[in-house]
Parts: sequence; structure tokens; C-alpha cells
Amino acid sequence: MVYLDHASAMPVDPRVLAYLRDHGDALCGNPSSLHSVGLAARRELEAARGRVAALINAPVSSSIVFTAGATEANNLAIRGTAERNQKHGKTIAVSAIEHISIINPAKYLVKQGFELATVPVDADGLVSPDVLAGLMTPDTTVVSINYANDEIGTIEPVRELARLVHEEEHRYLHVNATAAGGRIPIDVQSDEIDLLTLSSSDLGGPRGAGALYVAPGVRLQTVMPGGGQERGLRSGTENLPAIAGMGEAARIAGGEMEQESRRQQKIRDALIAGIGGIGETYLTGHPRLRLPNHASFRFGRIEGESILLNMDTLFGIQVATGSACTSQTLEPSHVLLAIGLTHEEAHGSMIMTTGRDTAEEAAPGVIDAVRQTVERLRALSPL
Ligand code: PMP
Repeated sequence: MVYLDHASAMPVDPRVLAYLRDHGDALCGNPSSLHSVGLAARRELEAARGRVAALINAPVSSSIVFTAGATEANNLAIRGTAERNQKHGKTIAVSAIEHISIINPAKYLVKQGFELATVPVDADGLVSPDVLAGLMTPDTTVVSINYANDEIGTIEPVRELARLVHEEEHRYLHVNATAAGGRIPIDVQSDEIDLLTLSSSDLGGPRGAGALYVAPGVRLQTVMPGGGQERGLRSGTENLPAIAGMGEAARIAGGEMEQESRRQQKIRDALIAGIGGIGETYLTGHPRLRLPNHASFRFGRIEGESILLNMDTLFGIQVATGSACTSQTLEPSHVLLAIGLTHEEAHGSMIMTTGRDTAEEAAPGVIDAVRQTVERLRALSPL
């Protein structure tokens, strides 16, 4: 079996599981309890906060708010910031290739009377600073652009975009870094990012935890009122085992990023070169500015779902055809449409995302399996 769908779910790193086993006693209390068991839990919570903060060079660990995942962090960022700052403006700008957990909160705000400006991308998936500059108005308070896209791998010019966003006071840049976190260096201070989303599961931690970085001074409103945990921004007893696992996963990812990125990039480049050599096969996303673990393609005259099922059942290789979060719909990916593909072209997509468990030696076998799959499906295709 070769698992190449780490963007949908990353296996929990065995070292994270070992950490949770070793710290089990400290993880059973409630961090808000005042007794010794609670204090031990609080120490674990704060250690995890420090580790997540270090991964993105956050200036203070209190700028990290733990949530139940990236979806919740994105909701808090988009809705919480737009609602809190509505006296300064009621327009939000969201790139056309954002994850559904950004697009849907943005649509929710539209129902509440906000304006939504969609920021187009070019054929490689890049947001142009000039286009963004032309689209923002003094009424724009929140801009949301992904650090890197989970479907096409493209890395955005975040630093440049942040400068433009900050030309106006009371305008904030939110960055969904779920796909980029732990894979490429992120520095929220030098990138001048106001709000940034991370997910535990994309770092190799357990599901059920995510984080929103909130830069000091950025005001937002809770979307989850209750007991006031997480600085009042996210009430509810903290999911400590998942959060502690996220902290350990962030520590491991930060320490290994350079060498792992280099290793996985070699696999990525081998896949792109080998699969790109198959007839009527095109890379999606940027050829150079892309995640080190991400190879995505579209194939003429075949459907992504058929590729996925053939690769899985005949070769034991798991790939994706779009975001797992929208795979229940038969609609073509909004990301692929946004980079200018037709509906038909968008249906022929395949995404491969590697992880720490992907061996370099796997690449030639995967390329051969794709070649055989494509030939087989094209022979059957009425197109
Ligand atoms: N953003 C991106 C880019 C994602 O890939 C995902 C899902 N892995 C999410 C947000 C949502 O994450 P979750 O389902 O953990 O809330």
C-alpha cells in the first residue's frame, strides 16, 4: 500500500502517540481546575501552546487559541473578526480558491448583510497583489488568502499581500495555513499575518484540535460563548489529549521540516516528471511555487474518480481527486474552475500528497501504476 492522500488525513505520528502515552496522567484533568491534577493539565495545555507558537514564530504563546479543528478556527477568524470590526466596514475579501470552511462562513456573513468580494487567481492559482489592491475598499475589514492551496499546492505571496492589506487601518489578513503548516517555514511576524489557521491532523497530530493565531492587538468576537476558556474566544473544556498531541506534532514538524521537505520534494519532483510524461497529462498549480509534498494533475478524457478507484483497487495506492471535504458533491472543484479549467477538464483531476511515511523508492511504482491506469481507462473511455 502507498498512501498518497496526506492532505485529507495524515497518519498520527507514532512519536505523538508515545508522548500521549507517557504524559497520560497529566492529560486527564481539566486545565481550569485549581487542584494539582488541574494544574498539571494546565501545564500541558500551555506547553502545547508554546510549541504551536514556536512553529510559526508567534511573538507570544498567548496569541494561540486552540479550537476543535481548522474549520472552527476559520469560522472564528472570518466571522469573529468581521463581526467585531463591522463599525469599520462590512466587506470581506476571500480568494476564489479558499477551502469550503472559509467560503461557507463568508456566505453566512453575506446573509447577515456583509458584502463578499471574491479575489480571482491566475492560471497557476496565484493571487496577484495588483488584483487584490484593486479589489479592496476602505470598507474591507477582513481578507482571507490561503498560505498554500490543498488541491493544487500553490504557495501564495503572503508577505506582499499582507503589506497591501495593512495599507488601511482596521483591515486584517487571515491566512489558512492548514496545508502549509509544518511543511514550509511560516513566520507570522515577518509575514505580517494577523490571523492564521493550523490543524492538528495536518501536522501529524490527532484529530479534534486546531489553532487560530491571533496577532496581539487584533480584536475579534467569539463564535462560541460559554465558560470563557481560551481568552474567552473559544469556550468549552479544552480537548487536552488532542491539543497536547498537536503541540508535540508541531514540535516534531518544526524540527524536521528542512530535511523532510527536501526528502519529500525529491519524491514530488519524480512524480511530476514521470506522470507529466504521460500523454494529455497536465500539472495543476504552480510549477515551482508549490508545497514540497504536493503533486497534482489533470488528465484528458478520463474522470478523477475512476483514476482514484483504479489506483486503489488494482495497485493499493490511495490518491485524491479533490478536497475530501467536498468529495460528496459531484460538482467540479471550485479551485480548478477558478484557475480557468472547464467543467470537463476539472473532472479529470488527481492529487497526490506525500508524508513522512512515504518512501522515496515508491515513486517509480506509483508512476507506473498511473500510466497503466490511464491507458486502461482511456481504452474504455467513450471520449
Ligand atoms: N483547510 C484545509 C486546507 C483543509 O485541507 C482542511 C481539511 N483537512 C480544513 C481546512 C478543515 O479542517 P478540519 O476538517 O480539520 O476542520
